[in-house]
Amino acid sequence: MSHDVIIVGGSYAGLSAGLQLVRARRRVLVIDAGKRRNRFAEHSHGFLGQDGRPPAEIAADGRAEFMDYPTADWLTDSATSVQREGEGFVVGVRSGARLPARRLILAGGVRDELPTIPGLVERWGRSIFHCPYCHGYELDQGRIGVLAASELSMHHALMLPDWGHTTLFTNGAFVPSAEQWGQLANRGVVVEPEPVRAISGERANVHLGDGREVALDGLFTLTRTHLDSTLVDQLGCQLTAGHTGSYIQVSEIQETSVPGVFACGDAALPAGSVALAVGSGARAGTGAHASLMFR
Ligand SMILES: Cc1cc2nc3c(=O)[nH]c(=O)nc-3n(C[C@H](O)[C@H](O)[C@H](O)COP(=O)(O)OP(=O)(O)OC[C@H]3O[C@@H](n4cnc5c(N)ncnc54)[C@H](O)[C@@H]3O)c2cc1C
Repeated sequence: MSHDVIIVGGSYAGLSAGLQLVRARRRVLVIDAGKRRNRFAEHSHGFLGQDGRPPAEIAADGRAEFMDYPTADWLTDSATSVQREGEGFVVGVRSGARLPARRLILAGGVRDELPTIPGLVERWGRSIFHCPYCHGYELDQGRIGVLAASELSMHHALMLPDWGHTTLFTNGAFVPSAEQWGQLANRGVVVEPEPVRAISGERANVHLGDGREVALDGLFTLTRTHLDSTLVDQLGCQLTAGHTGSYIQVSEIQETSVPGVFACGDAALPAGSVALAVGSGARAGTGAHASLMFR
């Protein structure tokens, strides 16, 4: 059976796109591998109406709402290939099936590459984060660290004093200029140039090269973000270079540089959130629907 639209990625962005399409009575297949970016966090913040809920519950509710429509289909699998066929596409999945559709929506999100410091990965999403808006408030104006990954971490360090007493661990990633020292001092940020060796403890105790230990309530760091490039490369979608990694270039209706292929969520944003994923997903769904009606 052919679908009007196949959506690769069944999290916030993909489900939001799918909801618009099934409400327009279109036949939609969501293919999802089940690896949401925020699966490490216990609570999700900043999405109106769902603030503080477990992210898995928000996604499960979204899936249930989508699947309530008779033209919604779901496949738990990984999309591994895509080809143009006639005016549509055929998507291949890991289990071997080849699935045709007239339009394609890429909503596969991004993967975070974390700094390689012992103890960091275990605390990712619990006491070590990248987004102050998502997890800063809960630190209760406590002791906050910024682990520099590049000079871009200046931005993090200058923001975080609004959420607590901030120490910037430069960790050899960059040396602040005299002007930057001034900006950090104006915001009350303490600068710690000693290298970070490891992180331990219930929250985030930072162990420095000279043997000192700094106890923190939370630590923020930038990640490198990676798109799952397989489908994007096979389709030839144009990318935009972002501060943390590339993302798919889209038009105002979320259409990529390849006609008939739409993209939304973190995969098509310079920096994502659940709210932005849902918003851009809704736009991709209506954009794909418009292209089915009028092209
Ligand atoms: C630790 C952490 C905490 C966060 N906390 C918050 C928060 O509190 N509030 C907030 O607003 N944001 C938060 N975020 C950001 C938020 O997770 C993302 O912005 C959001 O998940 C993006 O939604 P998405 O639908 O674009 O992608 P994702 O939610 O990442 O979902 C992508 C889905 O596509 C699937 N997929 C990918 N490739 C394929 C393929 N080839 N075939 C099949 N399926 C595929 C994946 O398995 C996954 O299920 C947090 C992020 C992290 C890392």
